[in-house]
Parts: sequence; C-alpha cells; structure tokens
Amino acid sequence: MRVSLLILAFLSALPLSAQEQSVRYEASHDAMGTEFTVVAYGRDAKYLGEVANEVFAEIDRLDAQMSNYRAESEISALNRDAARRAVIVEPALFALIQDSLRYSRETDGAFDITVGPLMRAWGFFRGQGRVPTHAELAEVLERIGYRHVHLDAERREVRFDREGVELDLGGIAKGYAVDRAVEILRENGVTAALVSSGTSSLYALGAPPGEQGWKVNIRDPFEAGRAGDVVWLKNYSLSASGSYERFFTFEGKTYAHIIDPRTGHPVENMLSSAVLAPRATQSDALSTAFFVLGPQASRIYLATHPNLAVVFNQPAPARQTFRRVILRSTSFSPPPGSLAEISPP
Ligand code: ADP
Ligand code: MG
Repeated sequence: MRVSLLILAFLSALPLSAQEQSVRYEASHDAMGTEFTVVAYGRDAKYLGEVANEVFAEIDRLDAQMSNYRAESEISALNRDAARRAVIVEPALFALIQDSLRYSRETDGAFDITVGPLMRAWGFFRGQGRVPTHAELAEVLERIGYRHVHLDAERREVRFDREGVELDLGGIAKGYAVDRAVEILRENGVTAALVSSGTSSLYALGAPPGEQGWKVNIRDPFEAGRAGDVVWLKNYSLSASGSYERFFTFEGKTYAHIIDPRTGHPVENMLSSAVLAPRATQSDALSTAFFVLGPQASRIYLATHPNLAVVFNQPAPARQTFRRVILRSTSFSPPPGSLAEISPP
C-alpha cells in the first residue's frame, strides 16, 4: 500500500516539474481552404509565436504555389502549358509531383493527382455537386491518368502527353505543408508540438510535458462531436479522408469528394479511412488511396510497406451504423522515440 502510494507521488511529481518550465502556445491560420493549427510547448510564448509565424508564412507560400484555385499559382501555370511544352518546375514541387506519381504506381492508380477534371465534372470544384452524363464522363476519362504525366528529373521538367490533363494536389498538399511546418519547428529548437491542417492531416512532434505522446481522437463517421478511436502519437502523423467532409446527395445517393480515377466515379461503400504513418505527406496520400482501395486491396500495400496503420469505417446494413476495420503493415515497429498506438474509445 505504502509502496504504491510512493510510486503515485513520484509519478505525479514528474509532469509538474516539467510543466513549470513549459508554457502552452496555440495559434491558427487559414490556408489551403482549411485552418492550420500549431500547438506548442516551450519556455517562451513570444518565441513560439515567432516560430509559428514563420510556419504560417511558409504554408502561405506553398498555398500560393500549389493552389489550383489561383490562376497565378505555379501549378495553374503548369496546367495551362504542360500539354504544349515541357515546363521547368521548382525543385520541391517537382519532388512532390514525383512522390505523387510514385504513390499512383504503388497503389495501382487509386491515388492519382490527375483527378482534377473529374472533380469538376462531379461539381466538387467550386460547384454544388452534380452527376455527369455517360458521354461527359467518357470524354473526361480520356484526360485522366498519371501515365499522361511525364517527368524529366535531370531537367526538372513536367510534360503532359495530351491536352486537358491537369494536376490537383488536393490529396497530398496539406500533408506536405504539415511536414514542412514540422521541419521549421525542429530547425528552431521546438521539441513538443502538434501541427494540423484542419481535419485532414496532423503531425505529433515529441510529446506534451509529462505525457508519453499526443492523444488524438478519430471522429465518429456520423457525428462530428462524438469521439471514435483514440490514437496516441509521438513523432508520427495521422491523416483522415472522410465522405463526410465534402459530399453531396442526389436522388437518395451520397457522393464523396474522393473519386476512383480508374472508374471516374466517387467512391462508394466507405465512410472514412484514417492512416498513421511516419510522415504527413505519406499519411495524407495514403488515406485517400486506401479510401479508394478499401480494406482488401489495402492489405496488399501494407504487406510490402512498413510502419503504417489504417482505421476504416465502412457503412453497415443498419442505418447510421458502421463497421470498423483496423489494419497494420506486416512489418510494424515504429522507430525508438516514436509512438503510434490505436486504442478503442
Ligand atoms: P482532405 O482534403 O480532407 O484531406 P483527402 O485527403 O481525402 O481529404 O483529399 C481529397 C482531395 O484529394 C479531393 O478534394 C481532391 O482534390 C483530391 N482527390 C480526390 N480523389 C483523389 C484520388 N483518387 N487521388 C488523389 N487525389 C484525389
Ligand atoms: Mg488527406
């Protein structure tokens, strides 16, 4: 009895002393059509604020470069010109496009940044949502597919092999921005922070004082306020793709903003997928890819790619009910100093 009390006292003394030299800082910033948030612990709130401003400036720069909602962005210029001539691209953006095409190859085309014209055909780009005709869909599908994108790594050039091909980084840019934010935090000596891009992606840097990691809830697929699975993260990322984020209903059917590039149709039979991965660029792309692939095909990917976990919520027969499927990489051993654990609510 006495011993356990002592242990208790010792344990509770630890977080206290850590907290004494630590302040919590939090700031948010609108970019990429969502709200980025940085929560950080450190000795000096003013300093953390300066670092957060640097982070937000970098995210604004990425937004200005990668948005296809801005006519003057580098990606919009690329989309206008790359069918007519090879276009030289800024190194980091070129690497991100390279990465995106690799995810396409690895996921049998389930993840594909050429989905842009399909997003428009289904009215997801600025629109209200609509169902395209067969003829329209057939025409659009001619311009879809990562194989129409050709890269010359030496010259850093991108070229499309036909008119009308477009790149849409909506499935990977927010994760990439989170990773860049974490690099800036690390370079500036911040050791405990949580960076998130709305409900899309987050990265848990270190852990809050006295904690083993950052505790994050995956939301219930039907009720935003109700918590689903609990995830503990340290030096790890989590991204979610949900049919509840942006969808429309037409004649009793709900259409999700994630499209299977191979059929041209919005994915059905999936409510959400949440992916744990070492980097947010990776978890962002894979949450979209796994959403398209579903549990069965995702298993094949997980057999050959280490340190990933995914929580699927699929609709069940009864109204407002769902089925949970959790899968992990065959080889799952997060490196020392990191934490990636899923526990039921
Ligand atoms: P969020 O935007 O909330 O992070 P996702 O990560 O699932 O959600 O990304 C959805 C976005 O990705 C869409 O808005 C669209 O721009 C793009 N997208 C849709 N389907 C695909 C796909 N199959 N592959 C790659 N990107 C896609
Ligand atoms: Mg995502």
